[in-house]
Amino acid sequence: MKPGWEAVIGVETHVELSTRSKMFCRCPVDVDAAPNTACCPVCLALPGALPVPNEQAIEDIVKIGLALDCAINERSLFYRKNYFYPDLPKNYQISQYTFPVCEHGSIEIEAEDGPVTVGITRVHMEEDTGKSTHVGDGGGRIHDADHTLLDFNRAGVPLVEIVTEPDLRTPEQARAYGSELQRIVLALGVSDAKLEAGSMRFDVNVSVRRTGDPEFGTRTETKNVNSLRSLQRVVAFEIDRQVELIEAGGSVTQETRHWNEETAQTAAMRSKEESEDYRYFQDPDLLPLEVSEPWRDAILASLPELPADRRARYVEAGADAAAAELLADSRGLSSRFEEAVAAGANARTVAIWLTGDVVAHLRRIDGDIDATVLSGDHLAELSAMVEAGELSSSAAKDVLTATIDGEGSPRDIAEAKDLMQVSDVGEIEVAVDAVLAANADAVAKIADGDMKPMGFLIGQVMRETGGKADPKVVQQLVRAKTQG
Ligand code: ADP
Ligand code: MG
Ligand code: ZN
Repeated sequence: MKPGWEAVIGVETHVELSTRSKMFCRCPVDVDAAPNTACCPVCLALPGALPVPNEQAIEDIVKIGLALDCAINERSLFYRKNYFYPDLPKNYQISQYTFPVCEHGSIEIEAEDGPVTVGITRVHMEEDTGKSTHVGDGGGRIHDADHTLLDFNRAGVPLVEIVTEPDLRTPEQARAYGSELQRIVLALGVSDAKLEAGSMRFDVNVSVRRTGDPEFGTRTETKNVNSLRSLQRVVAFEIDRQVELIEAGGSVTQETRHWNEETAQTAAMRSKEESEDYRYFQDPDLLPLEVSEPWRDAILASLPELPADRRARYVEAGADAAAAELLADSRGLSSRFEEAVAAGANARTVAIWLTGDVVAHLRRIDGDIDATVLSGDHLAELSAMVEAGELSSSAAKDVLTATIDGEGSPRDIAEAKDLMQVSDVGEIEVAVDAVLAANADAVAKIADGDMKPMGFLIGQVMRETGGKADPKVVQQLVRAKTQG
């Protein structure tokens, strides 16, 4: 960021829930259904059709709210947000306005520039629109399209909107927020949160001000950002654009913009609408929504472990922070790690294996890491062999790779490949005695206080044992036998 300037960023995130049915009707939520086959009078807004809220969706939004430390309103209200768009059959969207389901939360994120607490203003329930496909030479844009195809399968799919306070300050923080929110939603199991498929998407509000200025600047809102990388780039681009504009004597217009991935730029889309433009009013077809305290408490009790807690638990067990993050982000790796540790493996060692070269090998043969080719028991067996000095750590990696390739259990492989380290003192002692007897002059030098030949003798013993002796044991024996 240019010195003397500070950015202010707030993010609005839409998450499509993966409930079985839509928000206010019994139609299935099915992305693969043929166009306009998952629709009914309610989601097509035929006259006289009446909406009934989806209980599962309410449970899911309460989960999200609780995971974000929000207060859950016992009573919340559905509103009509009125606007015309061809893929919005009712000409209004059922949403919430005053009294959303969840308010006043916060989330801790770990950005490169340190930890940040981001306030969550609200988490509210709404429904998705249908999908328009613009056909023709416009490359999918409405301008230059010959015609537009409408698919109402998505109309009425439960949508949760999560709004932050303007607490973020840098592009990296915005990305870290988006990433942590995605992890939380995935951990809760309420959405597939696929950014590339649009089931999770960001609207990014950015303004700039001179450092120390107590007032916020005028913001722009860039809509439908669909990757974490783009989220970071949008913020960086808008900061530069706005600073340049102001320094050149201009001023920022409050407007809605969109992100063009090819040009890596945002462009103005429309001037910002105000909430008055939507003529919000309470939906007369829907009663106030009640989330009783017992229901709330039952949902709270059902929450799974959250990603931050899981990472902390892995660090506590002995994994380093970076490995803990990689493990916690992968269902396959985290279960392997937990199984191995439960079977008595050294957590630190297993965390290193599962996040290093070996996992690259695993990924090459499996694509995703839910590999059943590696079991927690095998990891524990291997860890125990290293701990017992039976296997060197470099040999352990070879054994692990072979285990992944299905060659057998670590012990079988180590024995078959003759990789077992000799740590039996008696066996090593025979080799040490032979080496000392054959190198009397070196032994004499050490007796005179010249320690230089020590390394040579140890090397000879290693050679004698074909490199398989535990170096620690060799060292101890050579020391003891030459220095008395
Ligand atoms: P809407 O966009 O629907 O009008 P809000 O006014 O509640 O909604 O603000 C939306 C988002 O914009 C919030 O995440 C908020 O934190 C953020 N925001 C508000 N003011 C600013 C500002 N001056 N600069 C950057 N972000 C802002
Ligand atoms: Mg907005
Ligand atoms: Zn329907």
